Amino acid sequence: MRTILHGTDYYPEQWLDQPQVIEDDLALMRDAGINAVTLGVFAWSHLEPAEGHYQLDWLEDVIRRAGDRDIKTVLATPSGARPPWMARRYPEILRTLADGRRARFGGRHNHCPTSSVFREKVRAMNEQLASRFSGCSEVILWHVSNEYQGTCFCESCARAFRLWLRAEHQDDLDLLNRRWWSSFWSHRYSDWEEIEPPTPHGEYQLHAQVIDWKRFVSHQIADFARYEIAAIRRHDTGTPTTVNLMGLHASLNAAELVAVVDRVSGDIYPTWGLPPGSDDGMLHTIPESGDLFRNYAFSLAYYRGLSGGQPWLLMESTPGTTNWHQVGRLKRPGAHVLSSLAAVAGGADSVQYFQWRQGRGGWEQFHGSVIDHRGRKGRTFDEVAELSGILNQLHDLAGLSGVADAAVILDTPSRWMINQASGPRNDGRRGEIETAMRHVDSLTRQGLTVDVVPSEADVNRFSIVVLPMVAELGEETARRLLRFVEAGGTLLVTYFSGVFDRWQRLAEDGYPAWLNKAMAVSVVELDQLAVGETVPIRWVGNGSAVGNGTAEKPNPVFAREYCEIVETGGAAQTVAVYGGQFYAGSPAITRTTVGKGTIWYEACRLDDTGLDQLVETVVDTSDPGAGGWVLPEPWRGFVRSLQLPLRWMARRADSGLLVFLFNPVDAPCTVTGIPSSPMLLCRAETVGTDAVRINGWGSAVYREAPPPATRIRGQSMH
Ligand SMILES: [Zn+2]
Repeated sequence: MRTILHGTDYYPEQWLDQPQVIEDDLALMRDAGINAVTLGVFAWSHLEPAEGHYQLDWLEDVIRRAGDRDIKTVLATPSGARPPWMARRYPEILRTLADGRRARFGGRHNHCPTSSVFREKVRAMNEQLASRFSGCSEVILWHVSNEYQGTCFCESCARAFRLWLRAEHQDDLDLLNRRWWSSFWSHRYSDWEEIEPPTPHGEYQLHAQVIDWKRFVSHQIADFARYEIAAIRRHDTGTPTTVNLMGLHASLNAAELVAVVDRVSGDIYPTWGLPPGSDDGMLHTIPESGDLFRNYAFSLAYYRGLSGGQPWLLMESTPGTTNWHQVGRLKRPGAHVLSSLAAVAGGADSVQYFQWRQGRGGWEQFHGSVIDHRGRKGRTFDEVAELSGILNQLHDLAGLSGVADAAVILDTPSRWMINQASGPRNDGRRGEIETAMRHVDSLTRQGLTVDVVPSEADVNRFSIVVLPMVAELGEETARRLLRFVEAGGTLLVTYFSGVFDRWQRLAEDGYPAWLNKAMAVSVVELDQLAVGETVPIRWVGNGSAVGNGTAEKPNPVFAREYCEIVETGGAAQTVAVYGGQFYAGSPAITRTTVGKGTIWYEACRLDDTGLDQLVETVVDTSDPGAGGWVLPEPWRGFVRSLQLPLRWMARRADSGLLVFLFNPVDAPCTVTGIPSSPMLLCRAETVGTDAVRINGWGSAVYREAPPPATRIRGQSMH
């Protein structure tokens, strides 16, 4: 039987002097239905207590005893934190801060990724682990390091940066100077040795230098991960590898790390139940509507997109609270089952926790756990056990790739560029993530399933692709997108896309670069509105220019913040115009037929009503391919009528498409007109023949047969 992993991080090294605690923990895990345990994260000082003196017996003992209870092991390499003896003997392994100071021992990810000494220590440790556990059937996955992050500014890293630059710029300093636009503020370099890593007290305003440094850091971390994996592979060629990613965190380009491992996994820590405007725990804020589920679903779709639609692993989530959010709010009763079920609906083949037992000391002592530091089973344990039963009922979706109608591109280098640019607005409302989220949400309201993908992704399995503020659009990506459109796909491009080239120079032939000729749309000026200021947008011919000409579009809707003034050629049809400012009457939304497909251009940031009207028209005029939209009627019509706080998701299973309904707030609600009978209810009950009452933090799952096939543009694959 295929299974969904229900697992937890566990730190037996914190309890080695109390063997009964470990025995009790493993028994309790079994009682809770836990079937996977992650061991060894940060355990280096117990695995190699003195240099070259390895002690792996305790680890093998825990792995074996867990296996005796049908609990498999996800085995971590311990490079996330190093032992004190290593820092004392080899201080050069520690990081150098941006100001040039060498870090003291402590924390985690406090190592230089370039240090040959540290790499050698990691190689030796990983080989010890891999040779001991190669062929051990209890170990099912290598968890390489933990949440790779951070930057080192030492001389060794600076030298590696210069070598990387030489390769990147064909060993041609003139070429680098031109690409970096280094004549600005007298930055022209005459020797490679003059180039330093960018720092806040040194160079930080030559954008290309910062962007190349960020690319180098991602490259160096991916190279380090590759090095760790190579050591494992000398002894274990079969067990898959993963690195746990940190969601929307953009310090690294996640697409680079994903390329070196076998499985995509990630961590998510939302702050359920906090009021609008609070930190959502996922690098965003909770929107005015209080609809945190929107942000959460976006993160799930991002992991799914990074995984190319294949199942991914939710490596860390909290069963209770966290110690590092602004406010350590507890998950309300039901919230844990709901958020975990939503992760599975969002493509995860696992629900895993940080952490099993609360540690008594250290920085994470207040972090949520399945059982507390005393080993007491409580409300959280009961909900985890309840979830085990629910996951068992959904086992037939494990291992199946997802199906999605649309892709929204989230491009990490574009995010770097938007956020380091000075202008065109500096008031915290650039909103590149918000723009992507609003498009995902609007497509979801139309009953479409959406993946959030990196710009490198193959988009041919989608019908609609959105480029939301993809500020750097490379020629090769643009060519792929144009081929997708010519074959019948729909592309929706927003303001502030294709503005920059790879080195954040303004696009040579205007923007949106590489698409402007095909679209017959070119941006000539970019206006920015003050907070609260709006410009009316009028659909041409009361919407008759939109879609099939029958749509009734109420006038007006409004634009805020971004308003581009564009020139259009004959091929571009004006769908909406500005209704104010000196550019009144000029195009605000256009559509252009290209081959068998269409490119839409949003020259301004529409309000929610306007965006929903536009997206509805885009969807209605798009070709879903031979199989139709993933969600068939009458389900699609049903979910389009759903009102907040209710949210829906869908995932393919052997037995059919599963449609999930969630009520992610404290109060109950009742929904009618449901097309079929439920297969699973959590804190919910059917009412009459076609209605369900879903209590606060409740969910309901429905099955729609038959399952849709995986779709490739222009053909159907089974
Ligand atoms: Zn370094």
